[in-house]
Amino acid sequence: MPTADREAVAGLPPGIAAAREELTPMLSQYADLCAAHEDALVLFQVGDFYEAFCEAAAAVARVCEVTLTERSDSTGDYPMAGIPIDNAAPYLESLLDAGYRVALGDQVEDADQASGLVDRAVTEVITPGTVVEDDLLEAGTTNYVAAVAGGDESDPPSSVGLAAVDVSTGECLVTAGDRDDVAEELDRIAPAELIAGPDAPEFAPADAERGWTTHAHDSGAFERRAAVERLEPYLPDPDRRFDGDAELRAAGAVLAYAEYTQGDDGPLSYVTRIRRYDPRDRLRLDAAAQRSLELFENRGLGASDTLFDALDETSCALGRRCLERWLRRPLVDADAIRGRHDAVGELVDRTVVRERLADALGAAYDLERLVGRISRGRADARDLRSLHATLAVVPELKATLAEGDEVGSETDDDPRTDRLRDLRDRLDELAEIRELIDDAIAVNPPPEITEGGVIREGFDEDLDALRATEREGREWVADLEAAERERTGIDSLSVGHNQVHGYYIEVTDANLDRVPDDYRRRQTLKNSERYYTPELKEREEEIVGAAERADATEYELFVDVRERVAGETERLQALADAIAEVDALRSLSTVAVERDYVRPTVRTDDDAGVEIEGGRHPVVERAEEAFVPNDADLPPGSIAVITGPNMSGKSTYMRSVALAVVLAQTGSFVPAQAASLPVFDRLFTRVGASDDIAGGQSTFMREMSELTEILHDAGPSSLVLLDEVGRGTATTDGRAIARAAAEFVHDELAATALFATHYHDLTDLAAERDRVFNLHFTATREDGDVTFLHRVAPGASSSSYGVEVAELAGVPAPVVERSRELVADEADGGSGPAADPTGPDEDDAAGDASLREFLAEEADASDPGDSAREAERGGDESAADPPAAEREATDAAASSDGSAAASTDLADDLRALDLARMTPIEALNALHDLQSRATDDE
Ligand code: ADP
Ligand code: MG
Repeated sequence: MPTADREAVAGLPPGIAAAREELTPMLSQYADLCAAHEDALVLFQVGDFYEAFCEAAAAVARVCEVTLTERSDSTGDYPMAGIPIDNAAPYLESLLDAGYRVALGDQVEDADQASGLVDRAVTEVITPGTVVEDDLLEAGTTNYVAAVAGGDESDPPSSVGLAAVDVSTGECLVTAGDRDDVAEELDRIAPAELIAGPDAPEFAPADAERGWTTHAHDSGAFERRAAVERLEPYLPDPDRRFDGDAELRAAGAVLAYAEYTQGDDGPLSYVTRIRRYDPRDRLRLDAAAQRSLELFENRGLGASDTLFDALDETSCALGRRCLERWLRRPLVDADAIRGRHDAVGELVDRTVVRERLADALGAAYDLERLVGRISRGRADARDLRSLHATLAVVPELKATLAEGDEVGSETDDDPRTDRLRDLRDRLDELAEIRELIDDAIAVNPPPEITEGGVIREGFDEDLDALRATEREGREWVADLEAAERERTGIDSLSVGHNQVHGYYIEVTDANLDRVPDDYRRRQTLKNSERYYTPELKEREEEIVGAAERADATEYELFVDVRERVAGETERLQALADAIAEVDALRSLSTVAVERDYVRPTVRTDDDAGVEIEGGRHPVVERAEEAFVPNDADLPPGSIAVITGPNMSGKSTYMRSVALAVVLAQTGSFVPAQAASLPVFDRLFTRVGASDDIAGGQSTFMREMSELTEILHDAGPSSLVLLDEVGRGTATTDGRAIARAAAEFVHDELAATALFATHYHDLTDLAAERDRVFNLHFTATREDGDVTFLHRVAPGASSSSYGVEVAELAGVPAPVVERSRELVADEADGGSGPAADPTGPDEDDAAGDASLREFLAEEADASDPGDSAREAERGGDESAADPPAAEREATDAAASSDGSAAASTDLADDLRALDLARMTPIEALNALHDLQSRATDDE
C-alpha cells in the first residue's frame, strides 16, 4: 500500500476537519479521537457498528469492500462506511493487510445510562506488530513489534539498540550491537512491525522484502528520560539495567508504543521480564543463510516445505512457539546442546512416556496468550475455562514424566536426565488457581461476561440469594396462571410477558365481566384486555431487580476472579515456559523416532570436524521417494569443492550438511546414520545470483555484498556454504572471484566450507592447498534417460561433464564433437581463470532442471517427420565424417573460419540455454530450434 494512501486516512479526515466548527456533538467526538490518533484510522462505535467518515469512510469501503453510505444531520452530509462489531475480525485483517493501523473508538459507557452523548475512547490501536486478538493472529507463532535506537556518546561506537515485544504474550527482548548485527538480529526476530528512532533512520524505510512495516512513532519516546520513566514500572532502576543508552531507549520506545496500542492505560503488567541477550550466545545465521536454508520460508514458488515444517510435531501452540524460538536461535554451548540431546534421547527411548505426553499436551491451550489477555483485563469466562483446562494437564504431565515407561521394568521414579527432571520440577500445578476457576466459573459460559451465566452456583452466597429470589419469583409467576384461573373461574385466562409491558394477565373480551377488582388494566388488544395485579407488579420488580443485581454481581465476581488469576501472571508464565519446553523436546523426539534421526555426537576438541554418515536432507527427503544418503567428512578448516552437472545434487548435499549443524545445535537429532559434529558459532551461505531464482533480487551486486560479509566475518568456527558463487557476472570475472574467495576462506579465515561450483578449474585448488579437496556428482544414462545418481564421490568431475551430459541428452553429434574440441583447446591454451573466450557457464549447456522432462518428451515426440529428418541427416553424417569437416566443406563459400564460427555460435547458444528457468515446453522448443539450426547448417 502506497504511503500516500495511508496518510490520506490516518488521523483526522479532511472532510471532517473542514466542517469541524459546526459538527454535531457525536461527529465532534469522532473528530477529537481522530485528531488524537494521527497515525491511525479511527473506527468509531455507533451501536453495533464501527463507523468511519468522509475520506476514512472511502478507505474502509474500498479495503473492506463494504458499501459507502451517507450520514445526514443538520450540519450536512458525510460519507460513512461501517463494519459489524460482532464480526469485525475479517475486516480488521483486511485493513491491517492493506497497511493501516486501526484505532478502535469504543463506547465506554452504557448507552442506556448515558445522559446525552455516550462517552467513547480509543481502547486499542491494532497494528500489525501489536495485535492481540486470537482471530487476527496465527496460532502458535510469535508476533513482534521491534524498535531500534541509535547510540550516542555513552555507547560503544556504532552501537544500535534493539528491543522487541510480543504484545500478545508479554515476551520482551533487548539487545544491542553494531548496525549489521542489529540488521541480522532483526531478520531473526522477523518483527511484523518496526519503529525506528530518529537516530536510526536507516532502519526506517519500509522493506517489503523483509516483510515488516515501519513507521516513525512519537520520537519523544526514544528520549532517554522518557525511556527511563517508561521503564520504571517494569523493572527497578532502569538506568542501571542496560548496557548503554541505545538499548535503554529502544526498550522504552517499544514499550511506549505497545502501551499506546493497548489503549494507553499504563504499564502492561504481563510484561514481567525484559530479557537482555547477546546475539553472540547463539549460532548466528545471517538473513541469507536463513533464507537459503529455508528454515522458515520456502523460496520456491507455491511450495511450503521448510525445515520448521519438517520439525514441527508439537501438540500445542506453546510448544510450537518454543520450537520456533529454538530454531531461530540454535545454541552454541556444547553442554546446553547435549542437555537437549539427553532429554530428546530419553523421550526417544521411553515410548510410552512420549506418547502420553503428546496426548496430554494436546489439551493445553495457548497459555501465554491467555495470560496476556487475563492480565490486560480482556479475558472472558471462556478464556478462564481454557486456562483451567490447561492447568488440569499439568498433574498428568508431571506424573507421566515421573513414571517408568513400562509396567514391570525396574521403575524409574524420576526422569533420568537433568533436563526433564528440571522441567518436571518447574511444572507448577497452581492448584489454588485451578480450584478457584473451577469453583467460580461456569463450565460452559457464554461469551458475554455482563449478562450472567458465568459464575457457578455455590461460589457466592449473595449471588445465590439473588438468583434464588429471581427463581422463586419466576416460579410464582409460572404458578400464577393456574391460581388465577381457579380464583376467577376463567379457563382461558393466561399469564404472559413482553419486553415493553412486562408480566400481564390476559382475559378475552367474553370474560371481562368476571375480572376481579384488584386487576388493573395495562393494555387493550383487539379481542382481549391485559391486566396486572399489585402483587404481580411487586413480584416483577423483585424478579427484574434480582436478575439485574445478579448479573452485575456476576460481572464483579468475574472481574475479581480474573484479577486474582492475573496476580499469578509470573507463575503462569513460568509454567507456560515449562510446558512449552516439554512439548518442544517431545516434538523433537517424535521426529527423531518417526524419521529415523540419530543423536549426533557433539565435540569441542580442536580436531573436531563434520563427520556424517548417510546424511539426508530433512526436507527434500520427505518429497523424494528414494533419497540417496551421502557421507560428509570435513576436517576443521577444510574446503570441499563440489562439481557436477546441474540437478545432480550439489546444493542439496551442501544444505544437508548445514541443516544437520542447525538441527544438532537446536537440540534435535539429525537425519543420518551417524554424525559427529563440532559446535559452529556462525553459519553463512551464499547462493550465486542466477541460482537464487526465487530470491527476487538476483543481482550480482547483492551476491557480492553478501560475499563481502562472509569474507569479513567468517572465522575458524564458521561453516560457510558457497553455492555457485560468481555466477552473476561474466565467466572470466566470476571465475576469478570464486577462486580468490575460496583461497581467502582457506588461507585467511580457516573456516570450514563447502563450495559447489560450475568453474571446473577450481578443482585445481585441491592440489595447491592442503585443506582443499574435491567431491563430485555424476550423471549416467539408463534406459535412454539421463539419470542423476545423487551420490557424492571423491575427486573432481571430468572437466567436460557438461559435454558428456549434452551427449547423454542427445545433443547432435557434430555439436558434441565440436564442444569437446573447444574444451580441449581451452584446457591447453587457457590455464587459469583468465582464459575464457566464451560467455556463460559450462554446465548450463546440459544437465539442467528440465532435462529429464525434456528427454522424456523427446522420446515421445519422435514423430515421422522428425525421424525422417534424422535419417536424412544421419545419412549425411555417415557419408562425410567428421561432421565438422563436412560442414566446412559445404559451407565453402564462406571462409572456413566463418563456418567454425557458426558451429561455435551454436555451441555458445546451447550453453547459454538456461533450461532450469524454462518450462518443459519452452525447453523443448528451444532445443528443437537449435537442432534444426544444426541441421540447416549442413
Ligand atoms: P544441483 O545443485 O547439483 O543443481 P540440486 O541439489 O539442486 O542439484 O538437486 C536437484 C534435485 O535433485 C533436487 O531438487 C532433488 O529433487 C534431487 N536430489 C538432490 N539430491 C538428492 C538425493 N541425495 N537423493 C535424491 N534426490 C536428490
Ligand atoms: Mg545447485
